[in-house]
Amino acid sequence: MRIGIIGGGPAGMMCAIKAGENHEVALFEKNEKLGKKLFITGKGRCNLTNYTDEKDFMKNLVRNPSFMFSSIYSFSPFTTYYYFEDLGLPLKVERGNRVFPASDKSSDVIKTYEKKLRQVGVEVRLNTEVTSIKKDGETFILNDREKFDKVVIASGGISYKLTGSTGDGYKFGKEFGHKIIEPKPGLIAGLSLKNVELRVEKDKKVISKEFGEMLFTHRGISGPIVLTTSSKINRLNDFELYLDLKPALSKEKLDNRILRDFEDNQNKNIENVMRNLLPRDLIAYVLDSAKIPGDKKINQITKEEREELVKTIKNFKLIFASLDDIDRAIVTSGGIDVKDIDPKTMESKIVPGLYFIGEVIDIDGLTGGFNIQIANSTGYSCGINL
Ligand code: FAD
Repeated sequence: MRIGIIGGGPAGMMCAIKAGENHEVALFEKNEKLGKKLFITGKGRCNLTNYTDEKDFMKNLVRNPSFMFSSIYSFSPFTTYYYFEDLGLPLKVERGNRVFPASDKSSDVIKTYEKKLRQVGVEVRLNTEVTSIKKDGETFILNDREKFDKVVIASGGISYKLTGSTGDGYKFGKEFGHKIIEPKPGLIAGLSLKNVELRVEKDKKVISKEFGEMLFTHRGISGPIVLTTSSKINRLNDFELYLDLKPALSKEKLDNRILRDFEDNQNKNIENVMRNLLPRDLIAYVLDSAKIPGDKKINQITKEEREELVKTIKNFKLIFASLDDIDRAIVTSGGIDVKDIDPKTMESKIVPGLYFIGEVIDIDGLTGGFNIQIANSTGYSCGINL
């Protein structure tokens, strides 16, 4: 068989490697090199996977985890780890089971794929953009010229467009009758308040609670717990965001702590006394939100004001305007609807012989190596089945 694969990211490369063992495979990449996005992953170190079992892996998927069941069991995170080590890429496991190349260089991961692609004899076609896919009977025709028996779309999502992922797969999918779940920013890039809790409530029900680090940026908020939260809420409307600035303390304990601080500092301004409890830059916002003037002396603070202060520290309301721009998102949430793809083979249920793998599909994971694993596992399953 002659197989055309569109997109030289991890999904397309893995699929080409497996399919190339038995077939004639051409891998089309519009950039001048393979894995341009892979190169910038993990801040240039490439967090290739997460050293965890299949069950735990599934818990870290945000959308459509059950779709991944078959492919993750056929090419699991542990298998991926030893697969790359066997190909001569030494790996290491860091905090949170995140796997990186021992050299800390994403370029070494790319070189490993390239070496294997050469070994199996895949024809890599750089600087070659696929602009059209047509079907004539059983045959696919790419760019009105080249004929293939099967075509795999591995063109990625629509974030970080400069790396080549410009959403072409959605266009092709749509042309062939596939439903596209509207792409949204999945995880928004950024950097780090320690030990805080970000809570999302909808209709008074808590739907997400993340504890850890976050930061305020000039554009809004970011950091690990914000990235995770953004993945969970990107398809919701009308929800409320609260920050618990002292999650380790219950309301009673926090009130006792504040009372102690107040007793020791009766003649001071509240804005100064709060420095024992909150980061300096946040004090004015918290006091403003609790409607207490910063220059009010502690001995004039009423019990109601103190209660309001405790309430505000535990439920600091953030006004949600929007997620950051999709072009700065780490992963696209949305894409080709999983309902129309066979999860074992990745073949379209609408167009026989057409396949979708990687981020172009409506599956996305949290940070920690889960998204590249999705690309590798779906690419592997598709390749092996081809
Ligand atoms: P991509 O890697 O996007 O590859 C798609 C390829 O298709 C591109 O090379 C593109 O040029 C090519 N292409 C598109 N259209 C055409 C066309 N018409 N013709 C020819 N070629 C085409 N995930 C992790 O697991 N760990 C991390 O550490 C991590 N860090 C990240 C950091 C950043 C800054 C970003 C943006 C993402 C990060 N991700 C990470 C997410 C991860 O990079 C993606 O989920 C993964 O690359 C998706 O793989 P893919 O093969 O499906 O698509």
